Amino acid sequence: MLFLMSMNTIHHNTCPICGQQNLKTKYNLQDYTVSKEFYDILECESCGFMFTQDPPDAKSIGPYYKSDAYVSHSDTQEGLFFKIYHKVREHMLKQKRKAIIENSSGHRTLKLLDIGTGRGYFLNHMQEQGFLCTGIEQDPEVRKIASEEFNLKILAPEQLYQFEENKFDVITLWHVLEHVHDLKGYLEKIKSILKSDGLLVIALPNPDSTDAKIYREHWAGWDLPIHLWHFKPQNIESLLSQYQFNMVDKRRLPFDPFYVSILGSQQRGDKLPMISGGFKGLRSYISCLSDIDKTTSLIYFFKKE
Ligand SMILES: [Zn+2]
Repeated sequence: MLFLMSMNTIHHNTCPICGQQNLKTKYNLQDYTVSKEFYDILECESCGFMFTQDPPDAKSIGPYYKSDAYVSHSDTQEGLFFKIYHKVREHMLKQKRKAIIENSSGHRTLKLLDIGTGRGYFLNHMQEQGFLCTGIEQDPEVRKIASEEFNLKILAPEQLYQFEENKFDVITLWHVLEHVHDLKGYLEKIKSILKSDGLLVIALPNPDSTDAKIYREHWAGWDLPIHLWHFKPQNIESLLSQYQFNMVDKRRLPFDPFYVSILGSQQRGDKLPMISGGFKGLRSYISCLSDIDKTTSLIYFFKKE
């Protein structure tokens, strides 16, 4: 198959968070969207962190992103599902901004860096609200479209390593850190370019969520092999503490249980995925009302110690 021919992969012998060697295979899962290949997900027996074994390296992973179903990079308005998705996105942009302001130190004009800008909807929203915005986006085509459409400053990932220290008040990664190959390099750099009272915002899917347990191997949050890391709430907190970050707030992404459950029902081949996924999403949503750590996706807010 095309994908295997020139691919270089990364083999893990130790846990990327705690360094222990006791790793077991938790799942063997398929890439449903693009390659249809199977990948192992390993779990560290010491700290519980899960990660994808033998994923394509940074140079080989590009083709795995080429999917029409990759909705965060597409702008299609077809179908009820996508109409709902776009409405929800507008609502969530406001919620994200509100949460950032509530967790920030009260400045009016904050310098914001968004890593993994995608089509630029979040950054455009923040720029319209007076934030001084810079974006980082890997895909040159997406970078060009977003910069032109919204008049945004969006740079290539290599530029991240060029920023001077203490430059930004807020750094955001919306469903991005699970895609980052150079996890330690990124976190070191983020720590140095964020001001001492700055805010780091990381949104991640939660493999400990109720819907991850319902859908198991069909859970859409696995998204292999482009999701390299599968952070449970305790894992991200433990990793960030290695870079002297404390978690100051944690919030749910309330629509994700529905979105992820409908995708899960599609991947599992349910006859009416909108209905079956909708009900399972509701079950997941209700179950996490009393325990935020069971929700589909979490936004974590960190500050320096
Ligand atoms: Zn570990």
